[in-house]
Amino acid sequence: MKLPFVVVLLGLWGFASGAWAWSNHTVGSYLALQDVAALRDAPELTVEPLEQFLGQEHAGLVTLLREQETFARRHFPDYPPRPDNLALTDAPAADLRRAFLMALRVNPQIHLALMFQPMPGQDQPQRAHLKPQEVMVEQTISPWSTQRFISLAAGDKVAPLAVLATAADEPDYGHDINLFSDNPGEAGALYGFGVQSFGDERFEYSSQAPFHIGFFHESAVVYAGAPFLQRSWPDWRAYQYLDLARFAFATGHPYWGYRFLGWGLHYVQDLTQPYHATPLPGADLASMLLMEGKALAGFDADKNAAIERVATRHIEVEKYQAAWLEQVLRAKVALPMLAAYADAAQDATYPPYTERYLRDVVSAESNAQAAAFDQAIGQWLAVSGGVGDFSQGNDLKRENYQHEPLNSQLVGLLRHMGAHSRNFVKAGTAAAQDAQLD
Ligand SMILES: [Zn+2]
Repeated sequence: MKLPFVVVLLGLWGFASGAWAWSNHTVGSYLALQDVAALRDAPELTVEPLEQFLGQEHAGLVTLLREQETFARRHFPDYPPRPDNLALTDAPAADLRRAFLMALRVNPQIHLALMFQPMPGQDQPQRAHLKPQEVMVEQTISPWSTQRFISLAAGDKVAPLAVLATAADEPDYGHDINLFSDNPGEAGALYGFGVQSFGDERFEYSSQAPFHIGFFHESAVVYAGAPFLQRSWPDWRAYQYLDLARFAFATGHPYWGYRFLGWGLHYVQDLTQPYHATPLPGADLASMLLMEGKALAGFDADKNAAIERVATRHIEVEKYQAAWLEQVLRAKVALPMLAAYADAAQDATYPPYTERYLRDVVSAESNAQAAAFDQAIGQWLAVSGGVGDFSQGNDLKRENYQHEPLNSQLVGLLRHMGAHSRNFVKAGTAAAQDAQLD
């Protein structure tokens, strides 16, 4: 086996951008979690500024984050140890928030605005709204975003599901931007993640890809040739935030409990998208090597076509799903896609949640479906030519969302997304319910 071929091949691969995964996580989370009784029946929460939580719980957080680091070094393969000087110190730092974000190795420039996203069609125009640039770092602002952000202030009351569903979209607002040593900005030089392992440079937010994508189920020969594929940490991010959520619930800060839980939920949902769990869906090792061999001999058309194909299919199918969902929500009819998000019939068939769940269960499942999904997208694109650019509204109207093989793939994947979302949330909220009973 000529490993250098694999290295060259994968090294040049752009990879999916890392932001698209069922588009707006807030909408998917509302739909997946709407019938969870523990959320629906929970009392409204009081909005609490981060600094208040950090100030009141500093001593506990010093211990918690120290234990997290010890755990991560033992349990996450290819985990880059956190430099010791980033740990929280016993004496609180002057800037509590910055010290906390740096101890988590999150982008210290995120806004962490107090706000919530309503479900589409349930906006409250009379209330104050925040602009996208007040919520997201600039690299993540999309010109065709339709999200609405209703402003909140400390002391306001808000439904737990709104906090959780809103937070599920937040890691795409800048949490994981520019954390690598070769990225612009100051954090990457301090964080110890090394050089960026992969990401599509055409996108400004591509530096977040190794935190939102995980290639956990490739063959040993692929990893041997392309070890950078193993340098990704969505499972660690989910662990960090679930653990923080449990701590916040246990110490009487439910607003932050649900918000941290939503952050963790994001990474679970990302891995339910096959393009976030598989580098080259539908391509086996032999065909990859053949493409590379031909490219080296000067015939690179196959290889370039394959690169283009993966990027296009990933983005087009997310646009199709997002536009279809928008149409379904507007029509207010119960369709298989909406039912799939909320279908809890399979939830209990999965193993109990542990820190291995993202790797062993979520991404294994989406990886197994990747080739069939990719094929269905290919068939749809051949017929329809794709959704078109979101900024050109006319193109969207041509689509009738009647592509049965693709729709049934999507419905199946969204059913998984709903199940894993509920299982993750249950793992986090058990502590919240205990606290309410005390
Ligand atoms: Zn993401």
